[in-house]
Amino acid sequence: MALREIRTIGDEVLRKKCKPVREVNDRVRMLLQDIEDTLRSDENGAGLAAPQIGILRRLIVVNAPDGEYLKLVNPEIVASDGEHEVVEGCLSVPGRWGKLMRPVKVTVKALDENGKEVTIEAENDYAKLFCHEIDHLDGVLFIDKVTEFIDDDEDWEEDDEDDEDGEDDEDLDETDQENE
Ligand SMILES: [Zn+2]
Repeated sequence: MALREIRTIGDEVLRKKCKPVREVNDRVRMLLQDIEDTLRSDENGAGLAAPQIGILRRLIVVNAPDGEYLKLVNPEIVASDGEHEVVEGCLSVPGRWGKLMRPVKVTVKALDENGKEVTIEAENDYAKLFCHEIDHLDGVLFIDKVTEFIDDDEDWEEDDEDDEDGEDDEDLDETDQENE
Protein backbone atom coordinates (compact mmCIF):
# COMPACT_ATOMS: atom_id res chain seq x y z
CA MET A 1 0.00 0.00 0.00
CA ALA A 2 1.40 3.31 -1.04
CA LEU A 3 -0.17 6.69 -0.76
CA ARG A 4 1.01 9.29 -3.21
CA GLU A 5 0.76 13.02 -2.97
CA ILE A 6 -2.15 14.37 -5.01
CA ARG A 7 -0.86 17.03 -7.35
CA THR A 8 -2.87 20.24 -7.41
CA ILE A 9 -3.53 23.00 -9.88
CA GLY A 10 -0.42 24.89 -10.87
CA ASP A 11 1.57 21.65 -11.14
CA GLU A 12 2.67 21.27 -14.75
CA VAL A 13 2.13 17.53 -14.70
CA LEU A 14 -1.65 18.06 -14.73
CA ARG A 15 -1.42 19.80 -18.11
CA LYS A 16 0.58 17.17 -19.99
CA LYS A 17 -0.77 14.51 -22.32
CA CYS A 18 -0.25 10.99 -20.99
CA LYS A 19 1.31 8.21 -23.03
CA PRO A 20 -0.52 4.96 -23.70
CA VAL A 21 0.60 1.90 -21.77
CA ARG A 22 2.17 -0.69 -24.09
CA GLU A 23 2.20 -3.65 -21.76
CA VAL A 24 0.15 -4.31 -18.63
CA ASN A 25 2.91 -5.61 -16.37
CA ASP A 26 3.64 -5.66 -12.64
CA ARG A 27 4.94 -2.11 -12.71
CA VAL A 28 1.62 -0.93 -14.21
CA ARG A 29 -0.35 -2.96 -11.66
CA MET A 30 1.67 -1.35 -8.88
CA LEU A 31 0.90 2.12 -10.19
CA LEU A 32 -2.80 1.25 -10.45
CA GLN A 33 -2.71 0.05 -6.85
CA ASP A 34 -1.06 3.30 -5.74
CA ILE A 35 -3.77 5.26 -7.55
CA GLU A 36 -6.46 3.16 -5.86
CA ASP A 37 -4.88 3.50 -2.41
CA THR A 38 -4.54 7.25 -2.82
CA LEU A 39 -8.14 7.52 -4.04
CA ARG A 40 -9.47 5.43 -1.14
CA SER A 41 -7.65 7.68 1.31
CA ASP A 42 -9.94 10.57 0.39
CA GLU A 43 -13.50 10.00 1.51
CA ASN A 44 -14.86 12.30 -1.20
CA GLY A 45 -12.85 10.77 -4.01
CA ALA A 46 -14.84 9.15 -6.82
CA GLY A 47 -12.00 8.71 -9.28
CA LEU A 48 -8.33 9.45 -9.80
CA ALA A 49 -6.11 9.58 -12.88
CA ALA A 50 -2.36 8.85 -13.06
CA PRO A 51 -1.22 12.46 -13.69
CA GLN A 52 -2.89 13.44 -10.41
CA ILE A 53 -0.15 11.47 -8.65
CA GLY A 54 2.51 12.66 -11.11
CA ILE A 55 2.50 9.72 -13.52
CA LEU A 56 2.16 10.49 -17.23
CA ARG A 57 0.58 7.22 -18.29
CA ARG A 58 -3.00 6.47 -19.38
CA LEU A 59 -4.24 4.90 -16.14
CA ILE A 60 -7.36 5.67 -14.11
CA VAL A 61 -9.20 4.23 -11.13
CA VAL A 62 -12.91 4.86 -10.66
CA ASN A 63 -15.25 4.00 -7.83
CA ALA A 64 -18.08 2.19 -9.63
CA PRO A 65 -21.74 2.49 -8.55
CA ASP A 66 -21.54 -1.00 -7.01
CA GLY A 67 -18.71 0.19 -4.73
CA GLU A 68 -15.98 -1.64 -6.61
CA TYR A 69 -12.79 0.19 -7.57
CA LEU A 70 -12.14 -0.32 -11.28
CA LYS A 71 -8.52 -0.06 -12.39
CA LEU A 72 -8.30 0.74 -16.08
CA VAL A 73 -5.49 1.02 -18.61
CA ASN A 74 -5.71 3.12 -21.81
CA PRO A 75 -9.40 4.00 -21.27
CA GLU A 76 -11.16 5.55 -24.23
CA ILE A 77 -14.67 6.87 -24.78
CA VAL A 78 -15.83 5.10 -27.93
CA ALA A 79 -19.46 6.30 -27.93
CA SER A 80 -21.52 8.90 -26.12
CA ASP A 81 -25.15 9.90 -26.08
CA GLY A 82 -27.09 12.94 -24.89
CA GLU A 83 -25.85 15.98 -23.04
CA HIS A 84 -26.77 17.54 -19.72
CA GLU A 85 -25.50 19.97 -17.15
CA VAL A 86 -23.55 18.47 -14.26
CA VAL A 87 -21.65 19.76 -11.23
CA GLU A 88 -18.04 18.69 -10.81
CA GLY A 89 -15.15 19.09 -8.46
CA CYS A 90 -11.64 17.66 -8.56
CA LEU A 91 -9.14 16.47 -5.96
CA SER A 92 -6.53 18.46 -7.89
CA VAL A 93 -8.58 21.67 -7.77
CA PRO A 94 -9.44 21.83 -4.07
CA GLY A 95 -12.43 23.85 -2.95
CA ARG A 96 -13.83 24.64 -6.38
CA TRP A 97 -16.95 23.30 -8.05
CA GLY A 98 -18.64 24.29 -11.25
CA LYS A 99 -21.35 23.52 -13.73
CA LEU A 100 -20.50 22.13 -17.14
CA MET A 101 -21.99 20.01 -19.91
CA ARG A 102 -21.27 16.29 -20.13
CA PRO A 103 -22.75 13.36 -22.07
CA VAL A 104 -25.59 11.47 -20.35
CA LYS A 105 -24.22 8.09 -21.44
CA VAL A 106 -20.81 6.90 -22.53
CA THR A 107 -19.29 3.63 -23.65
CA VAL A 108 -15.72 3.15 -22.45
CA LYS A 109 -13.21 0.67 -23.77
CA ALA A 110 -10.10 -0.12 -21.77
CA LEU A 111 -7.82 -2.89 -20.57
CA ASP A 112 -8.20 -4.22 -17.05
CA GLU A 113 -5.26 -4.82 -14.72
CA ASN A 114 -4.67 -8.20 -16.38
CA GLY A 115 -4.53 -6.71 -19.86
CA LYS A 116 -7.95 -8.02 -20.82
CA GLU A 117 -10.17 -5.77 -22.93
CA VAL A 118 -13.27 -4.50 -21.13
CA THR A 119 -16.25 -2.44 -22.29
CA ILE A 120 -18.21 -0.39 -19.77
CA GLU A 121 -21.55 1.32 -20.29
CA ALA A 122 -21.96 4.27 -17.92
CA GLU A 123 -24.78 6.73 -17.29
CA ASN A 124 -25.21 10.02 -15.45
CA ASP A 125 -22.70 10.45 -12.58
CA TYR A 126 -20.77 7.36 -13.63
CA ALA A 127 -20.51 8.67 -17.21
CA LYS A 128 -19.42 12.05 -15.87
CA LEU A 129 -16.70 10.36 -13.85
CA PHE A 130 -15.21 8.65 -16.92
CA CYS A 131 -15.30 11.89 -18.92
CA HIS A 132 -13.56 13.72 -16.08
CA GLU A 133 -10.83 11.10 -15.53
CA ILE A 134 -10.12 10.55 -19.23
CA ASP A 135 -9.85 14.34 -19.68
CA HIS A 136 -7.08 14.27 -17.06
CA LEU A 137 -5.09 11.94 -19.35
CA ASP A 138 -5.09 14.67 -21.98
CA GLY A 139 -4.13 17.46 -19.59
CA VAL A 140 -7.68 18.80 -19.47
CA LEU A 141 -9.22 19.92 -16.17
CA PHE A 142 -12.94 20.38 -15.49
CA ILE A 143 -12.36 24.07 -14.90
CA ASP A 144 -11.50 24.39 -18.62
CA LYS A 145 -15.09 23.42 -19.44
CA VAL A 146 -16.97 25.13 -16.63
CA THR A 147 -19.76 27.46 -17.70
CA GLU A 148 -20.43 28.71 -14.18
CA PHE A 149 -18.41 28.31 -11.00
CA ILE A 150 -20.31 27.61 -7.83
CA ASP A 151 -19.16 29.79 -5.00
CA ASP A 152 -18.00 27.82 -1.98
CA ASP A 153 -20.31 29.86 0.25
CA GLU A 154 -23.32 29.61 -1.99
CA ASP A 155 -25.94 27.33 -0.54
CA TRP A 156 -26.66 25.14 -3.53
CA GLU A 157 -27.34 21.95 -1.60
CA GLU A 158 -31.04 21.28 -1.27
CA ASP A 159 -30.79 19.97 2.26
CA ASP A 160 -29.77 22.90 4.43
CA GLU A 161 -31.71 22.04 7.56
CA ASP A 162 -28.59 21.61 9.65
CA ASP A 163 -27.23 24.99 8.70
CA GLU A 164 -28.97 27.02 11.36
CA ASP A 165 -26.15 27.15 13.87
CA GLY A 166 -23.71 27.89 11.06
CA GLU A 167 -20.92 25.95 12.72
CA ASP A 168 -20.53 23.20 10.20
CA ASP A 169 -21.02 25.15 7.01
CA GLU A 170 -17.57 24.63 5.60
CA ASP A 171 -17.55 20.92 6.21
CA LEU A 172 -20.99 20.42 4.76
CA ASP A 173 -20.09 21.83 1.39
CA GLU A 174 -17.04 19.67 1.07
CA THR A 175 -18.35 16.38 2.34
CA ASP A 176 -21.55 16.43 0.32
CA GLN A 177 -19.85 16.75 -3.04
CA GLU A 178 -17.67 14.11 -4.56
CA ASN A 179 -14.39 14.91 -6.14
CA GLU A 180 -12.82 13.34 -9.15
ZN1 LIG B 1 -10.04 15.49 -11.37
